[in-house]
Amino acid sequence: MKRIAVLTSGGDAPGMNAAIRAVVRKGHHHGLDVIGVRRGYTGLIQGDFVTMDLGSVGDIIHRGGTVLYSARSEEFKTPEGREKAVANLKEYGIDGLVVIGGDGSFRGAQLLSDHGFKAVGVPGTIDNDIPGTDFTIGFDTAVNTVIENIDRIRDTATSHERTYIVEVMGRDAGDIALWAGLADGAESILIPEASYELDDIVDRLARGSRRGKKHSIIIVAEGVGSGVEIGRQIKEKTGSETRVTVLGHIQRGGSPTAFDRVLASRMGAKAVDILLEEKSDQMVAIRNNEITGIDFDQAFSMKHQPDMSIYDLAGILAI
Ligand code: ADP
Repeated sequence: MKRIAVLTSGGDAPGMNAAIRAVVRKGHHHGLDVIGVRRGYTGLIQGDFVTMDLGSVGDIIHRGGTVLYSARSEEFKTPEGREKAVANLKEYGIDGLVVIGGDGSFRGAQLLSDHGFKAVGVPGTIDNDIPGTDFTIGFDTAVNTVIENIDRIRDTATSHERTYIVEVMGRDAGDIALWAGLADGAESILIPEASYELDDIVDRLARGSRRGKKHSIIIVAEGVGSGVEIGRQIKEKTGSETRVTVLGHIQRGGSPTAFDRVLASRMGAKAVDILLEEKSDQMVAIRNNEITGIDFDQAFSMKHQPDMSIYDLAGILAI
């Protein structure tokens, strides 16, 4: 292995820059050339490559987003598109690729190995929805962004003695809602992995109000449905005012937390180690605080599940 490339693909996540930095610096530490590919698989097809020297990743560890830009590429899903990508990789003498992204991006990476390229995935997505790893890069930052905002909403909720519904990201996975819900003492947490009854939510609100609670926060993961609609239903049942906040894309941005910077640094460095061992088709994972590599096939055969003990605990503590 002489020359490796790194790209970011799919939805961006805070901490991706720290992962790029780790790949570049660890690569150089082992005497490798490192090439950056701009705009994910789109850049791979277009040959949008840039040499990454040690200085190229200076002053980025604390920045959100990705300096390599990210993209979704329909063309890469076609054999013709991948042929172009492979031709570019060959022309540049690249024999290993680090893909920082989600499981869609990893499926793309796996297809490159059919052409003899070694590809390793680094899980970067705020949703924490990649099977096989306890955490993904960006999740911790997103949860911190959510609770910072809910803390503000809580101030005004107390002043006005209202019920606030906060819709957070998580189309298929409720991890952000779950962690933010426990961290913020939400009365109810609605996630795609657990069914809910409107009557239970209303009961919890009534119980809180009987013991003199001044406000209530209900967190809804977007995969459950519209926060606005749920707010309307609660208002209809209780007759009292509700306010809905949809946090949206602010959850994707911002400076990565220390946890995400450390995770990204460890994972990016591990990806280089895996390539140096001449292994391929693996995803870097953190399991029980150990950074390890697992086969893409193994990861794809699993289903991500949030830690439901957090859900149960949040229900007990927010009584
Ligand atoms: P994420 O990596 O965040 O899950 P996507 O699912 O949008 O995001 O995937 C990012 C890109 O990876 C896609 O635009 C496409 O170029 C590539 N990709 C995704 N799935 C596949 C697939 N099954 N085969 C080939 N390429 C894929």
